[in-house]
Amino acid sequence: MLRMKAMKEDAWKDMLDVSACHWSRPHFRTYSKCDLQVKNMCEAFNREILEHREKPIIPLLEGIKHYITKRMTSHKELLHGYTGSIYPKIQLVIKKNKKQAQEWSPAWHGDDDISIFGFINGVETYCVDLKKEVCSCRKWDLSGIPFCHIISCIWKIKKQPEDYVVACYMKSTFIDTYSNIVYPTNEPQLCHIDDLNTMAPPMMRRAIGRPKK
Ligand SMILES: [Zn+2]
Repeated sequence: MLRMKAMKEDAWKDMLDVSACHWSRPHFRTYSKCDLQVKNMCEAFNREILEHREKPIIPLLEGIKHYITKRMTSHKELLHGYTGSIYPKIQLVIKKNKKQAQEWSPAWHGDDDISIFGFINGVETYCVDLKKEVCSCRKWDLSGIPFCHIISCIWKIKKQPEDYVVACYMKSTFIDTYSNIVYPTNEPQLCHIDDLNTMAPPMMRRAIGRPKK
């Protein structure tokens, strides 16, 4: 904050009015297991439906349905025949963290649960509590993926880092998530039309401030 104040005092004053848990990673809550402020899921979805947004309602919904179907099947294809227990992309992150973990040597602090460790490498100092699932760098707490400090502690107690990954990254969770399917639909000419309950199109009106097309 002091650096920000020195760089731009107006910005520093503005940030004082916003709770630190909304913009500062050390203050993020850990229950969501996400270390990003904005995941951009809405932006990604908007980008995907860009070509359909101007279409009438049925082609619009068809376009969204095709996008969702494609996304679900691509996940299923990825997991088909995959034998690991952790989702492949997360497994790659763990692999990278394992390489970094070789540079760290934790010191056990003598607790009965063998879960409290400390690190000092001359430059950085960190505390780990495996039982509480926390590291003072907060990368494990925030992401749920064992970071290098945690992995070196896990190796110290002769266990595997994969056993400490949160459930949301397990292959079984992904399979459950994408277990449902979106069924195909017939073209409109083949649909049953109920003349008694024909739905009228909505009234066209332009919201204030929207540009003319
Ligand atoms: Zn750490």
